[in-house]
Amino acid sequence: MHELAVCQGLMRQIELLAQREQAECITAIRLSIGPLSGVEPQLLADAFPIASAGSIAEGATLEVESQPIRVRCLTCGAESDATMNKLVCGSCGDFRTQLLSGDELLLTSVELERRQHA
Ligand SMILES: [Zn+2]
Repeated sequence: MHELAVCQGLMRQIELLAQREQAECITAIRLSIGPLSGVEPQLLADAFPIASAGSIAEGATLEVESQPIRVRCLTCGAESDATMNKLVCGSCGDFRTQLLSGDELLLTSVELERRQHA
């Protein structure tokens, strides 16, 4: 399952971050995923408990935000929304567009609890 490998990659990022921040546990994780990233948010959510079991992020809530597909037209310069199968300019219809967003898979925020130093 591709999403499990993606989740395991995220767990490595999260563990590094937790170390750096001296976190005791991770309580929430937010991700931003574009439709062109090749990752199915629901499958990722299913894989997360498996990937996080026994880790610092076990039991954390996972929130996935879906990003819109946006393109910039190389002909008229307009920025518009596009769909997965039709990355054309919404203004002039030209197919020569540059992808602005829609293929990302980003860790947008992590909530954690730090060790208490009394
Ligand atoms: Zn255009």
